[in-house]
Amino acid sequence: MAETILITEDNQRNMKLMEAVLRPHGYNILKAANGEEALEVAVREKPALILLDMELPKLSGIEVTRRFKQMPDFAHIPIVAVTAYAMKGDKEKFIEAGCDTYLAKPINTRELPGVVAEMLARQKRNSV
Ligand code: MN
Repeated sequence: MAETILITEDNQRNMKLMEAVLRPHGYNILKAANGEEALEVAVREKPALILLDMELPKLSGIEVTRRFKQMPDFAHIPIVAVTAYAMKGDKEKFIEAGCDTYLAKPINTRELPGVVAEMLARQKRNSV
């Protein structure tokens, strides 16, 4: 069965790009344009992995991450932070909030599928 990935991104161009890159790999793609929607969709659909833009309106990516990690059903679901902020210390801040890894914007379309596959594989190993 195809694994489900939730892409959370308020920028439509980035959303389309990530979707176009990941869909050919056979994933079932869900989309959310903000943090509230991401939480809502995730609770309903239980994705295997969440791609999370860190610069979202209202609820920040960090806040969304914290909320996911507080929920027992979601604590183990890998969250890939996606951000244009490549400031020193940001990566640590995201990891500390509970993100499992980090991708810089602009999205590297060659790197994205590998990171997603690796995080899914790691999660599977850990849950055995
Ligand atoms: Mn954004």
